[in-house]
Amino acid sequence: MRFDISYFLLGCIFTGSWVSAKHPKVTKKVGIIGAGIGGASTAYFLNELFQQQDVKVDITMFEAEDRVGGRVFSPTFTRPGLPGIPLNMGASLFVSCNYNMMNLTKRFSLPIQEDHGEYFSDSVTNLWNGKGFIWKESPFTRYGPENFVKLQGIIERMLVKFLKIYDSNRIWTSVDGLFKSLQLDNLLKVSGYEYFVSQGLNKTFVREYLDFSTRANYARGITEIHALAACIAAIPTTGVCDTHSVTSGNSALVKELATRSKAKVLLNHRVKAIFNLHGKYVVLSANGRIDTFDSLVVATPFQSAKLFFLPRIRYPSVEYSQVQVTHVTGQLNPSYFNVTEASLPSNIYTTINEGKKTPFNSLYKIANYQPKKGIYMYHLHSTGKLDQSTISRIFSEKRETNVKVVWNAYPRMSTRDVQQKFPVELSSGLYYLNTMEPFISTMETETISAKNIARLIARRIRGSHPAKQ
Ligand SMILES: Cc1cc2nc3c(=O)[nH]c(=O)nc-3n(C[C@H](O)[C@H](O)[C@H](O)COP(=O)(O)OP(=O)(O)OC[C@H]3O[C@@H](n4cnc5c(N)ncnc54)[C@H](O)[C@@H]3O)c2cc1C
Repeated sequence: MRFDISYFLLGCIFTGSWVSAKHPKVTKKVGIIGAGIGGASTAYFLNELFQQQDVKVDITMFEAEDRVGGRVFSPTFTRPGLPGIPLNMGASLFVSCNYNMMNLTKRFSLPIQEDHGEYFSDSVTNLWNGKGFIWKESPFTRYGPENFVKLQGIIERMLVKFLKIYDSNRIWTSVDGLFKSLQLDNLLKVSGYEYFVSQGLNKTFVREYLDFSTRANYARGITEIHALAACIAAIPTTGVCDTHSVTSGNSALVKELATRSKAKVLLNHRVKAIFNLHGKYVVLSANGRIDTFDSLVVATPFQSAKLFFLPRIRYPSVEYSQVQVTHVTGQLNPSYFNVTEASLPSNIYTTINEGKKTPFNSLYKIANYQPKKGIYMYHLHSTGKLDQSTISRIFSEKRETNVKVVWNAYPRMSTRDVQQKFPVELSSGLYYLNTMEPFISTMETETISAKNIARLIARRIRGSHPAKQ
């Protein structure tokens, strides 16, 4: 695209923040790049903080796609003779100890349900290592109840520390500093495997049972991921907190946040470049639009945003895992799993076998389709791309449709990745929301990061207008 400097400078002059002679309020302009749950909740919390203030915040949210939500995406699937069903193609579950998610859904009167998808009273879960199913009866028989009791204690102790993040006056300027102050930094130095074994859990239990939870949640094995992320992934398996999803699909929450924030939401607006000009942030969109802001929030991973900064910004490089989520309508093929139809489980989690990877991390029955014919919808989560011929082998000839999304899903969360500095403020008034992700990547932690940034912006604005507090 041709870049005309005269338009650019005119834009800077006319779109800069201003104080109206008619209105006594000072107006501060805040730009947010990305309308995922992080960007939308930053706008929501910021609007909430400034509702009864003399300072007005004027928020603009830029979104490259034609929808809000980002990695929270819940399209509705149609079914013959049954009502359409919203299915989460990205983030699917949150837990009852995710206080922001619980409070926001309650505040917006969004009904929540257990788990996600439809409930099946006859569902059976088993663990597959690519050769065969591991649990002959139940996981309790294989690993013994003492491992489950110990695991529960470990998770509860971690949560006591983590939940201090919700202290109302807690504000942080670096995420590495935050986890140090929560006394959770020791969990960032060791792998999930090393940590759980050091806490007295049986090695087979960790290698199989806790490996399936990191695979299903973060597409990484228990030896490859730091212990903090491994503990977060284990929460749903312990019963310490219940699992939930928004009944109408998780993206309904993001839509509510965006609408209630009163922000101007610009869909199909990809931001290309950000210039710091005398302390203001000039944002150039791919369509040539130019805006100027007093504060700016980057609410999307740098790796996918492809933003040009002047002056240049240096930030730790964080690699994201590629994950494919596929919804298949059909019947599982018992011969693929080398079992009879009667002994085929409806939900299959996986663990590694002699270094050999399975083609998917998890596969479970998510909704009815034509139940009388034995046809259901299945949710598959795989590392990298899952090819069509493998899908055809996993399912019998009754396979009808499949819908897939390939995501740059979450950081790899290795111990090495988090031994760096992760500041939240990149330069005065410029904030990076996705700092939290290499530590924990969830919807909840993005809303936590959003609230912190909203508070940092409020502190900055009030600092520059102390008389207006
Ligand atoms: C398959 C999968 C399963 C998951 N499961 C769970 C789960 O069960 N529970 C859970 O809590 N979390 C889960 N997560 C993680 C969770 O989805 C993310 O942590 C969270 O949604 C990230 O939100 P975000 O707003 O920070 O980023 P994103 O959702 O990535 O939003 C960023 C937005 O910015 C936009 N954007 C990018 N570049 C530009 C640009 N240059 N200009 C303008 N806009 C731009 C993007 O289009 C996007 O909409 C899952 C993620 C995936 C992919």
